Amino acid sequence: MNLDSPVEAPVEMTDLSPEDVGPSSKRMSGWKSIPFFGVHLVAIIGIIVSGWSWSGFALAMGLYFLRMFGITGGYHRYFSHRTYKMGRGMQFLMALLGTSATQKGVLWWAAHHRKHHKLSDQQGDIHSVRQDGFWHSHAGWILTSQHDDTDWARIKDFQKYPELRWLDKYHVVPPIALALGLYFFAGGWWALLWGFMVSTTLLWHGTFTINSLSHVFGSTRYETTDDSKNNLALALITMGEGWHNNHHYYQRSTNQGFYWWEIDVTFYALKALSWVGLVSDLHTPPERVRAWRGSGRPISPAGVARSAAAAAAVTAAAALTPAAPHLRDVTAPQPVAMQQQLPPS
Ligand SMILES: [Zn+2]
Ligand SMILES: [Zn+2]
Repeated sequence: MNLDSPVEAPVEMTDLSPEDVGPSSKRMSGWKSIPFFGVHLVAIIGIIVSGWSWSGFALAMGLYFLRMFGITGGYHRYFSHRTYKMGRGMQFLMALLGTSATQKGVLWWAAHHRKHHKLSDQQGDIHSVRQDGFWHSHAGWILTSQHDDTDWARIKDFQKYPELRWLDKYHVVPPIALALGLYFFAGGWWALLWGFMVSTTLLWHGTFTINSLSHVFGSTRYETTDDSKNNLALALITMGEGWHNNHHYYQRSTNQGFYWWEIDVTFYALKALSWVGLVSDLHTPPERVRAWRGSGRPISPAGVARSAAAAAAVTAAAALTPAAPHLRDVTAPQPVAMQQQLPPS
């Protein structure tokens, strides 16, 4: 394999069953909606009742960015895409930090994210504005019961670690421990309100913008088979994830900002951790990918393969279930024309 070529997310990405490309459920589960909206309500009402606090806001922001790093540097760039390496102890700590962000388990998150890249904006994408609208792509998909289980077939590479399986299963433990710790050891109700309720609400929506807004607003450097965009504002609130078109084109890269002006705080932090030996082997894009300036926009070979796989799966689903009109009637996504130019080798 040519290591310099843009590739799919590294593992367990080739299988698509008819269920994978079926329609999305829009029915929200009460059991998931109550805590989700409950935290929102407590945060808003809490601020109204208790009044604004700049020190509280600073606490909220501190825990926002710390835990955002657990999601971007851990859940996304390591567990989903394996763009760099770290030891087993550090791997667990990164997973623990990400889990404290209250976005379910690390293996659940990474497996679902790999599916997003497999079917980006095609039928079967678990969160796609193009397919299912803004709300579903932003938060609705998590609040349904359709995606409850960890998709083990897509995360076999990390399934072998019992400590990660435990953390994935008991993913509610770190957020609850954080909330209790704030309440009992950091300042009572004030610390719980700002450090957990406000911070977690902002952290949810900050992260979710990458599934929703970054597939709608921004610029397109690379032609991919999805709607991913590059967006500075989203990169600032997500520590670099807003360079989403770069990322969809070249998923192996640890940095998602490819130029100095594409601010990517997650990468700066990982770079600093590499200087003290806590992480290693950060992968950066080869110059021919980074500096592509051809007359046409480059098309990712991964995107072509993905589009073809999605088309085949949809066709197979339609053939297997002739009584299901939603599958029979779909227009299978077509592979992007191969004659589009690739970056010069
Ligand atoms: Zn990704
Ligand atoms: Zn995306």
